[in-house]
Amino acid sequence: MHTDKQVFDLIHKELERQRKGIELIASENFTSQAVIDAMGTCLTNKYAEGYPGKRYYGGCEVVDEIEQLAIDRLCELFGAEYANVQPHSGAQANAAVFLATLKPGDPILGFDLAHGGHLSHGSPVNYSGKVYKPHFYGVEKDSGLIDMDKVAAKAREVQPKLIVCGASAYARDWDYARFREIADEVGALLLADIAHPAGLIAGGLLKDPLQQCHIVTSTTHKTLRGPRGGIIMMGKDFENPWGRTTKKGSPIKMSSVLNSGVFPGMQGGPLEHVIAAKAVAFGEALQPSFKAYGQQVIQNAQVMAQAFVEKGYHVISGGTDNHLMLIDLRSKNVTGKAAENTLVRADITVNKNMVPFDTQSPFVTSGMRVGTAAITTRGFKEEDCLQVVDWIDAILSDIENEQKIDQVRKDINQYMERFPLYENVSV
Ligand code: PLP
Repeated sequence: MHTDKQVFDLIHKELERQRKGIELIASENFTSQAVIDAMGTCLTNKYAEGYPGKRYYGGCEVVDEIEQLAIDRLCELFGAEYANVQPHSGAQANAAVFLATLKPGDPILGFDLAHGGHLSHGSPVNYSGKVYKPHFYGVEKDSGLIDMDKVAAKAREVQPKLIVCGASAYARDWDYARFREIADEVGALLLADIAHPAGLIAGGLLKDPLQQCHIVTSTTHKTLRGPRGGIIMMGKDFENPWGRTTKKGSPIKMSSVLNSGVFPGMQGGPLEHVIAAKAVAFGEALQPSFKAYGQQVIQNAQVMAQAFVEKGYHVISGGTDNHLMLIDLRSKNVTGKAAENTLVRADITVNKNMVPFDTQSPFVTSGMRVGTAAITTRGFKEEDCLQVVDWIDAILSDIENEQKIDQVRKDINQYMERFPLYENVSV
C-alpha cells in the first residue's frame, strides 16, 4: 500500500494511458519489468562519485560490482574497448564529450537541427551552440539524403575540431567510413551519436559506428529499450589527439579524458539505480531475441512508410532503413501541431517535427515523426502497422470530424487489450 495516494494515483493514470494507446513517438519504448524493478531500489540511496575501484565515498563495494557489470555488458554488446555508463542522459553524454575534447570557441560540425539533428549537436539554444562555434550540414531538398561531398566541402571550409554524425529524425543509415575520411582530412575527431538506432546497431542490423568513429554516444531508452540515460563508448581507446600530457609528460588516454568529462566535468554522483537498470537492459539486448525484435522494428517501419507513401503522404527520403520515418504533411494541408493534437485525442501519440526546408515555426512545424520501437515491443506485426496507418489517415484526412476521432479512439482502446503491458502491476 502506498502512502502518497496523490502521486501514485497519477502514476497509475499514466500507466493506463500507456496501456490503452498506440505509442509512435520514435524516441520512446517500453522497458521490461526487470528494468523498472532495478530502478526502484535502494541503490538510489548510494553516493558513488568516481569510478569502480576509485570512489570518493565508502561503502561502494556493491555498486562497484553493479557498475562494472553494466560496463562489461555494454562493451560486449557493441564490441567496445571502453564504456562509461554514468551519463544521466544523452544530452549530458554529448556535453561531457564536448567538454573533454574541445576548448570554448572551437568550431564543430553537426547535422542541422531543422533537418533532423539534435539540439545537443550545436543548436544556439543549447550549451553546445553557446560554448562552441557550430556549423551544420543538412539533407538535399529533392532526395532528403545527406550529400557526403557537401559534408566534405563544409568541413574543409570550417575546419571543425569535432564532427558529429547522428540525428533525431533521419531515417537512413550513416556512411561512417566516409565521415571518418573527412574527419581525418581536416584533423577532426569524429563522434557518432547513435541515440536513436542504438538497439538496431547492437543487433547488427545497421552499420557499426564503433569501427569508424573515435567516440560514440547514445541514450539507453530508445531502441535500446533500457532506462532513461546516456552512455559513451569507444571501439578502441587512443591517446588524446591534441597532444595533452600528464604533469609528468606522459600521454593521456582518451578514456581518462572522457571519464573526467563525465565526472567531475559534467556530473556529480552517478545514479547507481539507473546504472543497475542499464545493466539489466544490456543483458536483455545480448539475448538472441533482441535481434529478432530489431528486425521486426525495421520491418514494421518499412511497411508503415510504404503504406503512407501509397496514401499520398510525403515520406522524407521515400522510406526508412531504421525504426522511424519523417512525414511532410504539407501535401495533406495539415500542420505537425494539428496532427499531433488531433491524433492524441484518438490515443495515438506522435510528435510534430520540423521537416527539411520547413516553412513553419518549430512550435507548429510541417511534419510528424513516427517510430515503431514501442509498438513492436507491444507485439505489433506488419498487419497491425497497416491498421495504424489506416487510423492515422482516417483522422488526418478529416481532421475536424469529432465523431470519427471518438470512434477511432474506442477502436484503438479495444485493440490494445490484445497487447498487454506490465500485467500484474498496478502502478
Ligand atoms: N541525441 C540524440 C540524437 C537524440 O535524439 C536525443 C534525444 O532525443 C538526445 C541525444 C538526448 O537525449 P536525452 O533526452 O536523454 O538528453
